[in-house]
Amino acid sequence: MKNKKYNNLINGQLQGAAEYLSIFSPIDGSLIGETPSMSQKDIDGVMEAAKAAQPSWEKIPRKEKAKLLYKTADLLEQHVDEIAEIMMWEIAKSLKDAKNEIIRTADLLRYTADIGVESTGEIISGGSFDSTAENKHAFITRKAMGVVLAIASFNYPVNLAASKIGPALMGGNAVVVKPASQGAISTLSLIKAFIDAGIPAGVVNSVTGKGSIIGDYIVTHSLVNFINFTGSTKVGEHIGKLAGIKPILCELGGKDAALVLPDADLDLTAKEIVAGAFSYSGQRCTAIKRVLVTSENADKLTNKLQKIVKELSVGMPQDNPTIVPVINNAAVEQTRLLDEDAIKKGATAILPLKIEKNLVYPTLLDHVTGDMDLAWVEPFSPILPIIRVQSVEEMIEVANASEYGLQSSVFSNDLQQAQKVSNALDVGTVQINNRTQRGPDNFPFLGIKKSGIGIQGIKYSIESMTQMKSIVVDM
Ligand code: NAP
Repeated sequence: MKNKKYNNLINGQLQGAAEYLSIFSPIDGSLIGETPSMSQKDIDGVMEAAKAAQPSWEKIPRKEKAKLLYKTADLLEQHVDEIAEIMMWEIAKSLKDAKNEIIRTADLLRYTADIGVESTGEIISGGSFDSTAENKHAFITRKAMGVVLAIASFNYPVNLAASKIGPALMGGNAVVVKPASQGAISTLSLIKAFIDAGIPAGVVNSVTGKGSIIGDYIVTHSLVNFINFTGSTKVGEHIGKLAGIKPILCELGGKDAALVLPDADLDLTAKEIVAGAFSYSGQRCTAIKRVLVTSENADKLTNKLQKIVKELSVGMPQDNPTIVPVINNAAVEQTRLLDEDAIKKGATAILPLKIEKNLVYPTLLDHVTGDMDLAWVEPFSPILPIIRVQSVEEMIEVANASEYGLQSSVFSNDLQQAQKVSNALDVGTVQINNRTQRGPDNFPFLGIKKSGIGIQGIKYSIESMTQMKSIVVDM
């Protein structure tokens, strides 16, 4: 698979560009392949193709659309080994996790098809103090937005793209996908599966090129009707400013906290925290990125965490370890600076930072305090700060002081108390006695504050990417 020229799928055809972007593997720096670096003229062609294809696609019965999603899911499963191999080299995800992502995506597409088929409209009768209002009936349906621009981050190049494309298609939209440059080859395999399944030409297309170069042009393109973005808060805010009143959905950064209440089962808590914080080297928006614990439990919990983290496997993705190389040198450097700042200001290294090229060993820092960047900044690497607090009230205060609001975990044996704390947390989702995570895919998935805007999750994604249309009849 290595060293190949990959092309975009536009209007059902493979299309290259005058210039190509070299993609190197985070595993060993080897050249994996090249993807087109599209020009503005190329991009105009993609948007026009999508715009032209959308009206006929919207008219296709939902059951027919669903069949094509099922077929895409079957193709993904048939090609799981091949796509997983690409993903492993491209984003250094363990082969096992890459396969899981693809299988989960096939499942997501089938579920999206089923839910999409069931999406129906409603009829409501008018109501007001004016009795004639009751003679009026509104027939409410949902119409497609038009062309959806789907921009995704590198860490789930198949699943994240599919979680946008599937619901957009069931809502009757055409889609233009801009994958992360590091991850684009994996996403192109997904797009190929849609095309091979028989999705009509122009309905699903891809655009590749550096976001910093083509991003502003695609986001402000007059033929784009909706933007569905996943990535950092910095880029999300930039896109939000450019989008103006164009509807937009953003899944952004996070600093998910695990709140360990005094009565928590510490064995379960430690196990969940480690799984939540370190899988895929912490390169997940929903990774646990800080632990808040009261002083009475802090020593016990720290010991338990240390034991489990020490046992985590570290290595190259081919061997399926938990800790794999992080995506690039910038992620390594950010981790080094966060660690340096914390240690300088008095944090204790329970498991000290160790770096070999872009392999960052699992790092556990205790006694992290509010004056340290690590307490607030989102790392995308396996470094976990433990913040000691005096009370549950202080724990909630520290959790809510973050600019992010994606998820939190609350660990407690007292469900009532856990619910009370959950209610007080400014996040989209709270997981009780469980690690923070995306899914099941039919649950609402959302971030508040700087973690996002809008709601994903199959039914909610379809709703987000469609608009209500109301036709009123006066009987
Ligand atoms: P990123 O650097 O923000 O990139 C995300 C996407 O935006 C990429 O496709 C990138 O393209 C593109 N992009 C860059 N500049 C752009 C511009 N000016 N206009 C339009 N698009 C532009 O994020 P990342 O490093 O890939 O992913 C990590 C971040 O994503 C973390 O903050 C993580 O928390 C967040 N994330 C959030 C969720 C969630 O559900 N909340 C899920 C996953 C990840 P290039 O690759 O070509 O630069």
